[in-house]
Amino acid sequence: MDLTFTPEEQAFRAEVRAFFAEALPDDLRAKMIDRGNLTRDDYVRWQRILNARGWATINWPVEHGGTGWSAAQRYIFQEEMALAHAPEWLPFNVNMIGPILCKFGNEEQKARFLKPTANLDIWWCQGFSEPGSGSDLASLRTRAVRDGDDYVINGQKIWTTLAQNADWMFLLARTDDSGRKQQGISFLLLDMKTPGITVRPIRSIDGVEDLNEVFFEDVRLPVTNRIGEEGKGWDYAKYLLGNERTGIARIGLSKERLLQLRTVENEMATRGMLDEGEQARLAWKLAELEVELRALELTQLRAVANALSDGAASLLKVRGTEIQQRTTELLVELAGPAGLAVPPGYGEGDHWAGQEDSWRHSAAPYYFNRRAVSIYGGANEVQKNILAKSVLGL
Ligand SMILES: Cc1cc2nc3c(=O)[nH]c(=O)nc-3n(C[C@H](O)[C@H](O)[C@H](O)COP(=O)(O)OP(=O)(O)OC[C@H]3O[C@@H](n4cnc5c(N)ncnc54)[C@H](O)[C@@H]3O)c2cc1C
Repeated sequence: MDLTFTPEEQAFRAEVRAFFAEALPDDLRAKMIDRGNLTRDDYVRWQRILNARGWATINWPVEHGGTGWSAAQRYIFQEEMALAHAPEWLPFNVNMIGPILCKFGNEEQKARFLKPTANLDIWWCQGFSEPGSGSDLASLRTRAVRDGDDYVINGQKIWTTLAQNADWMFLLARTDDSGRKQQGISFLLLDMKTPGITVRPIRSIDGVEDLNEVFFEDVRLPVTNRIGEEGKGWDYAKYLLGNERTGIARIGLSKERLLQLRTVENEMATRGMLDEGEQARLAWKLAELEVELRALELTQLRAVANALSDGAASLLKVRGTEIQQRTTELLVELAGPAGLAVPPGYGEGDHWAGQEDSWRHSAAPYYFNRRAVSIYGGANEVQKNILAKSVLGL
């Protein structure tokens, strides 16, 4: 198994890097460097730039706008995207509902939704989790009762990221509860303008209100908005969750953060802000992190080369998110007391782009924000259960 990139792949990397250098608007780059909050418009603007280049939906089948790239090319692309400080595309559209529509949608649904989904003319949110039904998602209780050509939906979702921006939601609802809990769940598409929907924000620990509770009270949805067969939603959801997990290791992002840590370390040493002991301790921590990240990268490359088994997505998710969290912990440590001065209004989208030492102010909110990566996409404890079963055979 060869873990080096071919000359063609290296040329591809150069092409991608040049694109990001030219196409990424300066204000978005600055915001990303300072970990500012992206607005709805920021996401839309960037995704349309990617889509115009044909690079917004790289994982989709070619006939629906995918690139047909190899796994190695996709890996390179995502790594360069992170190193260029470019935002990711909207995952709900690109990684979640898009592939579902391509694989399980009917022709009418494909014709109606795929293009606007790729171009972010439609913003999707994910209505899966409910109070009491997160890891144990199949226990969900939101109900869709058939009434003529409609379903009538009652219930509640929670942790719905960016529902406040969403035009449409893809959701799981129970259409039958006579069998096992995995049976009788249907996968539905809901226009968020339908009467009876209430979106209520949840303020999270980083001060941002990007998470929501969503309530449904007698919400009517045409049966034609169901994906695939009634009662088979669990199968489609499992396919979606597999796709969701694969990208979460975010090795490129951790690499970019390590570079930032190195820059900060040098700057602080030059300014005489670290004594000898602190410098040695920091150098040790950074070296340790770098070795672990490199090991993870090699594991990812082996997965790319198809040399890893079933548990690969879970393993990459667990280690990738642990490393992401450790880089943010180190940034907070380096920021020191200045990192505690989180400005009022940070959560309303203000950011510190362009200000001296701006990284210090965003270190703590960003640290808090990254606490979530070991929870969403399937909590790490649950991934460890999967690993115990699929790799260790326990
Ligand atoms: C920032 C963020 C964004 C999110 N966005 C969305 C979204 O857009 N749409 C959506 O539908 N959901 C979203 N979620 C919800 C997410 O999918 C759930 O939080 C996740 O599945 C965990 O479910 P829970 O919160 O109910 O925790 P629980 O399932 O109650 O888990 C609580 C704790 O128990 C542990 N645990 C649970 N079961 C087991 C087990 N069998 N073995 C060992 N340990 C176990 C968990 O690991 C965790 O530590 C988001 C969550 C976060 C934090």
